[in-house]
Amino acid sequence: MKTADGHEFATRCIHAGIAPDPVTGAIMTPIFQTSTFAQESPAQHKGFEYSRTGNPTRKVLEESLASLEHAQFGYAFSSGCAATTLIMLSLNPGDHVIAFNDLYGGTRRLFEKVFHKFGITFSFVDLTDSSQLSRALTKSTKMIWLESPSNPLLKLVDIEAIAKAASAFNIQLVVDNTFATPALQNPLLLGAHLVVHSTTKYIGGHSDVVGGAVLTNDTDWAEKIAYLSNAIGGVPSPMDCFLVLRGIKTLHLRMEKHCENALFIAKRLSDHKAISRVIYPGLTNHPQFDLGQRQMKASSGIVSFVVTGGLEKAKRVCAKTKLFACAESLGGVESLIEHPASMTHASIRPEDRLKIGIDDALIRISVGIEDGGDLWRDLEQAIESP
Ligand SMILES: *Cc1c(COP(=O)(O)O)cnc(C)c1O
Repeated sequence: MKTADGHEFATRCIHAGIAPDPVTGAIMTPIFQTSTFAQESPAQHKGFEYSRTGNPTRKVLEESLASLEHAQFGYAFSSGCAATTLIMLSLNPGDHVIAFNDLYGGTRRLFEKVFHKFGITFSFVDLTDSSQLSRALTKSTKMIWLESPSNPLLKLVDIEAIAKAASAFNIQLVVDNTFATPALQNPLLLGAHLVVHSTTKYIGGHSDVVGGAVLTNDTDWAEKIAYLSNAIGGVPSPMDCFLVLRGIKTLHLRMEKHCENALFIAKRLSDHKAISRVIYPGLTNHPQFDLGQRQMKASSGIVSFVVTGGLEKAKRVCAKTKLFACAESLGGVESLIEHPASMTHASIRPEDRLKIGIDDALIRISVGIEDGGDLWRDLEQAIESP
C-alpha cells in the first residue's frame, strides 16, 4: 500500500492510503459492497474474512484518516457517537471521567444518560482553566475528554498543557477534533492519546454521510479498539466509507474557504449594532485568541453570536435566512444556522445551559464555502427583518 507519509497535508488528503485497484487499475477506491470474502481453504484468506471485522473500502479510509492525524492506527465507525461509545466501553464500572463542560450535546447525553447507569462517573469541568483539572481528579479518574474549539461556545483548551497533566497522573486524554479537523490541529502531536472525529462534519464535508473515527499511536489502544470494534459492530458501510474518502480529497481546500468566510462574517457581525456578542477564536477579542493562534493553523468555520431581543428574536433570525438553512449539524459546504437552546443543546437542562454560558439568544452558524459577501447579505437581512 502506498502511503503518503512525509508529504504535506494537501498531498496526504489526496493520496494517503490510496492506490489504484490492483485488479482493474481503478483510480478511485472501489466500494466493496460485500459482507464476506471467499477463503481458498479454511482460514486461508487475503486479509479479509467478514465486513464487520474488516472491509477493503473501510481499510483505505482508516489509513487515510490515520495519515491526516499523524496516527499509526485508524478506525472508522458508523457515527461520531459510535466512536465515542466504543471508547467509553473500554472503561469499567467505577471508573471516573473528567469531561469538558462545553461538549457536543450528544456526547454529554451519552455520558450522563447512558454510561452513567453502567457505573461510570463524570465530572464536567471548565478545562479552559487547567487548575480545575487537579481539583476534579479522584483515585478512579481514568480519562479526560475534551473538545477544542468547543460547541457552541468555541472555547479553547490548551491541549498540550492538559496532555502533560494527564501523563503525569497516568490518565488517558481523548480529544474530539471534529471542529478543528486535522487540517488545523493535530492533538496526537500535542500529547493526546486518542483523537475522535465525527466525520459527518468537515471531514465528510458534504452533508451526505454520517460517520466517525478514532485515531491513535498507542499499540495497546489499537488492540483494544480493534477488538471492541469487531465485538460491537458499529462499523460504517462501504458506501459511507467511499463518501467520506471522497470528502477528504478536498478537505484542505474546503477548510481554507470555511476559515476565510467565517473570519469575514465574524468581523461583520461584530460591527452590527443588533449583535451584542460575537464568539470566534480568530477575533482578537476572543479570550483565548493567543492560544488559538498557537494551537490552530486557522480558526475553523463556526461562529456563534448573541442577538439582542432574546429567545424569540433568535428563533426568527434562524427562520429568516435564505442561504443559511436552519438545521443541526455543521461542516458541510453549505451554510447552516441553528439555535442551540431549542435545537442541538435542548437536551441539556436550562439551568445547566445558563451555567455554562449558552444564552437563550445564542445563534450558531456553520459558515459554508459560498461567496462570503452573499452569506453576509443573507444574515444581515435576517437580523434586520422584524
Ligand atoms: C456531531 C458531533 C459528534 C457526534 O457525531 P455524529 O456523527 O453525529 O454521531 C461528536 N462530537 C462533535 C464535536 C460533533 O460535532
